[in-house]
Amino acid sequence: MTKYLAIFLAVSISVSVLFSGCSNSQKLAKADDGARAQVTASSTPSATPTAKATETPKPTVDLAKVKPNEDGKIMVVMFHNFVQSFTPKPGDNGEYTTTFDDFRKLLPMLYDKGYRLINVNDYLNNNINVAAGCIPMMFTFDDGTAGQFNLVEENGKLVANKQSAVGILEEFNRTHPDFGLKATFYVNLGLNTFEGKGTVADRLKYLVDEGFEIGNHTMTHIHLNEQKSADNIIKEVGGNQKKMLELIPGYQMKTLALPFGQATKDLQGYVVKGEYSGVKYENFALMEVGAGPTMSPVSKKSNPLSMSRVRATGMKPVDCDLGWWLPRLSRDDQYISDGDPNTVTVPKSKEADVDKDRLKGKQLVIY
Ligand SMILES: [Zn+2]
Repeated sequence: MTKYLAIFLAVSISVSVLFSGCSNSQKLAKADDGARAQVTASSTPSATPTAKATETPKPTVDLAKVKPNEDGKIMVVMFHNFVQSFTPKPGDNGEYTTTFDDFRKLLPMLYDKGYRLINVNDYLNNNINVAAGCIPMMFTFDDGTAGQFNLVEENGKLVANKQSAVGILEEFNRTHPDFGLKATFYVNLGLNTFEGKGTVADRLKYLVDEGFEIGNHTMTHIHLNEQKSADNIIKEVGGNQKKMLELIPGYQMKTLALPFGQATKDLQGYVVKGEYSGVKYENFALMEVGAGPTMSPVSKKSNPLSMSRVRATGMKPVDCDLGWWLPRLSRDDQYISDGDPNTVTVPKSKEADVDKDRLKGKQLVIY
């Protein structure tokens, strides 16, 4: 009898957590973990009630409880290398390297803190669709390294290697589908891109088919600040877009991560927009390297052509990396979703900061 009561309680807690989403994320996340552990331990098939609960329409948001602030800051996390294990080498202390195990631990930690993934284009379109009380976050991966993603053959099919960032994200999303399978991969198509099985086209297509985005990182990772004329910039940015179209017909990259985080002072216009060899390109956001969260897309202070990113915590933690920011950003500082992508809900105290021309057709709600 006690066992059945435990199972019933576990399922009930799960259901209530799913109903509540992120509304009280810190407290509920703990209950959720406990519930999940108990359900698993009971080895009773319990997936049905929880699966049904997610399909139930969301309850109306209690503004006083959820305290949405869709004018708050959003973190764009920047990842580079992923490895099984890391040994420091001269010139590489691992600042830009994450182990698969650390990434596996990072995802549930972010989930429990209420973070949910969106794509960079969701941000640009002001189309942020995460549950009420949750905090949107963007993942960006630079350089197309093999540890981020590589294909392996499994039963005659090409699938993401489980020992890669994409494989780990897929695995986490199987149990936490509301976390989001979203990220932007900034690639240099004139250099090696992801390695592994399949062609470069197979790899990019796999990512795009899963809902990930591909962004521009120049053809060969040039130093934009050292360019003396527009010609090479146009060739590097436009050439990378041209190559992309050859690999995935019709795919327009809409954002660019600045290689080495370096911008060019006088020639930035050519990084943003141009035409190379009959192929037009335009980047609506430029991703930088440092060093803090970015503004809400509706904030008067937001500037997509200078988007600040937060470095993922590497083997050697540094100031202003993700691990440094997480305890320093309060809920009051951050974008707290109202759960409805068609409204932008902002407390009265923040109203003056909202640029009404940036709502992109969404309804502004002040409370
Ligand atoms: Zn890079």
